[in-house]
Order: sequence, then C-alpha cells, then structure tokens
Amino acid sequence: MRIDLHTHSVASDGTDSPERVLAAAARARLDVVALTDHDTTAGWAPAEAAVARHGVALVRGAELSCRAEGVSVHLLSYLHDPADPALLAEATRIRTSREGRAREMVRRLAVDFPLTWEDVMAHTGPDATVGRPHIADALVTNRVLADRSAAFRSILANDSPYYVQHYATGLVRAIGLVLAAGGVPVIAHPGAATRGRILTDAAIREAAAAGLAGLEVHHRDHGPEQVARLTALADELGLLVTGSSDYHGHGKPNVLGEHTTAPDVLAAVVERGRLPVVRP
Ligand code: AMP
Ligand code: FE
Ligand code: FE
Ligand code: ZN
Repeated sequence: MRIDLHTHSVASDGTDSPERVLAAAARARLDVVALTDHDTTAGWAPAEAAVARHGVALVRGAELSCRAEGVSVHLLSYLHDPADPALLAEATRIRTSREGRAREMVRRLAVDFPLTWEDVMAHTGPDATVGRPHIADALVTNRVLADRSAAFRSILANDSPYYVQHYATGLVRAIGLVLAAGGVPVIAHPGAATRGRILTDAAIREAAAAGLAGLEVHHRDHGPEQVARLTALADELGLLVTGSSDYHGHGKPNVLGEHTTAPDVLAAVVERGRLPVVRP
C-alpha cells in the first residue's frame, strides 16, 4: 500500500485541478491520497467525483494556517466535518485575512515591479485560497522572476520588505477546533527550517497535551537531524508518524509518493476521523 497524506490542488496553491491530483496519484501508483488544500475544503467534491475513475482512495483533509511561539505552523486536519460551524468560521477568517494580505503585498510590489491585483487573480483558481505562490506566478508571467522558487528566495521571502503577515489561528486553539469537528490533527513539516524558525519541543509537547494526533516526520524539508528529533518526540508523546510529499503540481519540485505513510498509521487516522475514506 502506497499512501501519501499531503497534496494541494488549484483550490489553494497547487497547479493541478483536484481531478488531476487523483489522476497524477494513479500514475504515481498510490493507493491512497489525501487532498489537503490550505484553509479550504472546496476541492473535496471534484476530488470525490474522480475517485472511481482513477481507482485511488481519497482522504479528505485541509491544511490550516496557524501560529505558535510567533512561528508559522501548518496543521493538517483529516476527515473532519466540512460543515462544522466553528472550524468553517475560522477557515473563513484566515482566508479573508489572506486576501487582504495578498492585496497589501501586491500594493507594495506594484511600486517597484509591473504587477496588478488582476494579474494575481488570473493565476488564482475560482474561490481558491490565495497565497504568495499566486503572486509569484503573476510575477513570472510579467517576466520579473523565473519561477516560484526564485520568488520565494527573493522578493516574496519572509524577511522581504514586501512581505505581509496574515491572520493565523493559535495552534492549541486550532487543535481544539479540529477535534471538535471530528478531525484528526497532524502538524505538517514541523522541522522545516527553510521557512524560518521552527517549533520547539515545548510547543510540540503543549500541542500533544491539547490532543494533537500526529507529526508529519517524513517530508522533503526535513534533514536527518529533524527526522531523528521528531521521531523521538512522537515516540515519547505517543503521536502518529506520517510521511507525505506536499505535492503542489508543477508549482514545486515535490513528487507524489516521494514520502509515504504506513498503512497502520492510516488505519489509526481513519479510526479517529468522523468521515470515511472515499474508496473506488
Ligand atoms: P503563504 O501561505 O501565502 O504565506 O505562502 C506559503 C506557501 O507557499 C507554502 O504553503 C508553500 O506551499 C508555498 N511555497 C513555499 N516555498 C515555495 C517555493 N519555493 N516554491 C513554490 N511554492 C512555495
Ligand atoms: Fe502550499
Ligand atoms: Fe504547509
Ligand atoms: Zn502543504
């Protein structure tokens, strides 16, 4: 069984439609794939509709934009009720703030580069969660930069004068919201230092005490040191250990199935989640 529990579609900052994520998962010989767009479940329905055609089972999820210790944290939620009012309201709050933030970044960038809000919207899927990758795509089209990675290395980096923060949910509160919605909370890439400071052991212990279910230990942004540290923490705290690609289509080099999750870990996720896996 090949299981990849972290991917993105055009419902957020991936470049494949949800159907194409399922098609690509089949080509990558995956048996199970999770769709985990940032702060939205808008891709679930088209992904569900593609399950039978492509013969890949679907875990419905999302990746919530959170913060702890002043660090940006991504919390994966699996198999939660998408209509849960409190979680839905929180995701809406994040998405609204993301739009204001993206508009402000575009306003600042437009002083020095050819860029309009319409350029960014032309690269953002209908109703998609907008982020820096969409701004990057518009800058690439306008020949300011070569690709998304070049943008993230320079004018879209966290320490760039053009960078603006958006609202993000406190991690412990987000874990509570996910659990109350019947979801299974797993911290995405907790050791990804390329994104700036990372969570301390103390913050991960606090998250575990709040009901965190697991850590995404195996991820391309983790070196051997982080894998060893996070494996030891998961073992100590009784957390599930997942591995995933964080596939974003051609927007990032991440390849489907480059890291995978063990079948017994998926079984534990399914047992705790409110929704079933959508099977072919
Ligand atoms: P934002 O959520 O708007 O702050 O933008 C961060 C998102 O950009 C992350 O969720 C990543 O998926 C994506 N990202 C970060 N670095 C890169 C990169 N080098 N190339 C493409 N996408 C990236
Ligand atoms: Fe992303
Ligand atoms: Fe992430
Ligand atoms: Zn992701």
